[in-house]
Amino acid sequence: MARPPAATLPTDHAPARRSFTPRAAAGVALAALLMLALTVAVLRMVERTAHREATAAVTQRALTAAQFNVATLRRDLEKHRALPFVLAQDPDVKTALATADPQRLAALNGKLEALAAGTGASVIYAVDRRGLTVASSNWRGPDSFVGENYAFRPYYQGAMAGGAAEHFALGTISRRPGLYLSHRLDDAGGQPLGVVVVKVEFPGLEEDWAHLAEPVFVTNSDGVVLLTSEPGWRFRSMVPLGEAAAEQLRRSLQFGDGTFAPLPIRPFSAATGGAPARKPPASGEEVRADVPGHPAGDSYLHVALPVPSTHWTFHLLAPSRDERTGIAARMQAQALVVLLLAYIAIASAIYVRRRLRRHNAQQAAIRAELTARVQARTAELQAANDQLRAEMEERRQAELRLHAAQEELVQANKLTFLGQIAAGVAHEINQPVAAIRSYADNAGSYLERGEADGARSSLARIGALTERIGAITGQLRAFARKGSGAREPTPVDDAIEGALLLLGPRLRTQPVALVRSGDKGLRVQAERLRLEQVLVNLLQNALDAVAGRDDARIDIATHADHADGANGGDDARVRIEIADNGPGIAPEIAERLFTPFSTSKPEGMGLGLVISRDIVAEFGGTLDTRPRSGGNGGSGSGAIFTITLNSAP
Ligand code: ADP
Repeated sequence: MARPPAATLPTDHAPARRSFTPRAAAGVALAALLMLALTVAVLRMVERTAHREATAAVTQRALTAAQFNVATLRRDLEKHRALPFVLAQDPDVKTALATADPQRLAALNGKLEALAAGTGASVIYAVDRRGLTVASSNWRGPDSFVGENYAFRPYYQGAMAGGAAEHFALGTISRRPGLYLSHRLDDAGGQPLGVVVVKVEFPGLEEDWAHLAEPVFVTNSDGVVLLTSEPGWRFRSMVPLGEAAAEQLRRSLQFGDGTFAPLPIRPFSAATGGAPARKPPASGEEVRADVPGHPAGDSYLHVALPVPSTHWTFHLLAPSRDERTGIAARMQAQALVVLLLAYIAIASAIYVRRRLRRHNAQQAAIRAELTARVQARTAELQAANDQLRAEMEERRQAELRLHAAQEELVQANKLTFLGQIAAGVAHEINQPVAAIRSYADNAGSYLERGEADGARSSLARIGALTERIGAITGQLRAFARKGSGAREPTPVDDAIEGALLLLGPRLRTQPVALVRSGDKGLRVQAERLRLEQVLVNLLQNALDAVAGRDDARIDIATHADHADGANGGDDARVRIEIADNGPGIAPEIAERLFTPFSTSKPEGMGLGLVISRDIVAEFGGTLDTRPRSGGNGGSGSGAIFTITLNSAP
């Protein structure tokens, strides 16, 4: 039966499974894209958060710094504000102004000089009601204010009108900016005598600011820079001033010939080098500014605080880039680590799930394969079983048929022998019948002569002869009967005798030397008549083989073989050998000697040996032949046929 080729079970290491299908590649590419997009989105988000955080942190610090600086500035201002007020009450100053007495004015010069040196004020001077400076702390110097008319100055006009004024301006003589604090002096009748002015400069403060990391500056209500840590920014404006306003300021000489160019501060979103904003940035807003000593367009956080008791605003630009990038880098690094861990976790989960799924699929495939194989095998076995059963049935039928055929053949063979033997027997019987006749005649003659003894002797001979005839016919009858199939202990000698008796007529006509040898009195498990049939067959063949020979000889030998040495044991065998000195088995039929219709004789049937072997086999024995080498009976080599049978008790 053709077997299906063994299917290869799928395994974990099957290379086909490992190969990268286009679908899998597309999946990986998509996953990579998604991961990339997610990473970019998260980094963006983190950056924005970092920006917010950085802004909050920087704002907090900047506010603290701004508050501190505003407080310092205010303390400075407050310190100097008291001075003009006190001087306005001073009787010496009043008298000097009222009298314009040179001596008193000279004394006032000295007093103001000492006061300026003591308070740190830049200049202190007294102006009469026309605006003319009559005494000044810097009376000694070449840039003395004495004699100068400041009636045009807003601090003079303000004080004359309102009693006190404050004005930040560039000194007309010193060209140094400062805050002018003025207070009006009145006489006893309430008439103005003049104005006392204290100019405060802030070089120390600005110097301190210059050391700060953040650019700081103070603007007035117009947005013009008054004080600043960046000298180049002085008198520039937060927003572009209108041309008219700028012109007016220039004419007032408040800030000398300042250009009021806008500060290099832009909204954060503006491009580098872009136009300045139209409106000033709000406090807490991020801006870009070109600060000397720093990268152009760097980002800063703008913090603005009003300076109490003034119309000024304090500005501070806190660098935010480092803070922002620092925080962003830190947060992005953390986010990246988290993302990476998440990706690894997701990838691991996907990998494990895939493996599990593949494993399950493989298991299912293996199970299915095994089930299919088992089913196929079962079907095969079933088919084989069925076939075997059918074959067995066929064989049984064939055996039955064969058996029947054999039976028939045996019978036919027997009849053939019988025909041959009957001819011989008829001849054999003729003789005794003729002898009986002559003995009967003799007996008659003896009786006529009254010789009773002679008659009795003749009758006795007749009796013996009829016995002999009876024996011959009995044998023939027995031979013609079908075998009973019963096995019983059978004396070998009797069987041989029977066979020889049947062959008697032929033996008497054909000259042959018959030699018996070996053990006597042996018994075998057989059926006597059938054993005789076998012996007759073998002896006839031997007689055929030696026919025509002068030295024709047939040896019949019987031997008991004790396989285990025990006598009469179950496995004890008896050999009956029939040897002749004929020509031996013809080579052309030697191969198929025991097959039906193998014969070398013109009138032969080729059935004798087949049937004989079958009969012997039925007794549990064997029938074989072998050539007789050398031989002791003459020139022919001859053949030996051996019947081996189970010995019987
Ligand atoms: P048959 O005698 O009808 O031919 P057998 O089966 O008895 O059939 O014998 C088959 C053949 O075996 C014989 O034709 C003969 O050639 C050969 N054969 C049998 N016995 C002998 C023997 N003793 N010597 C030589 N040949 C033999």
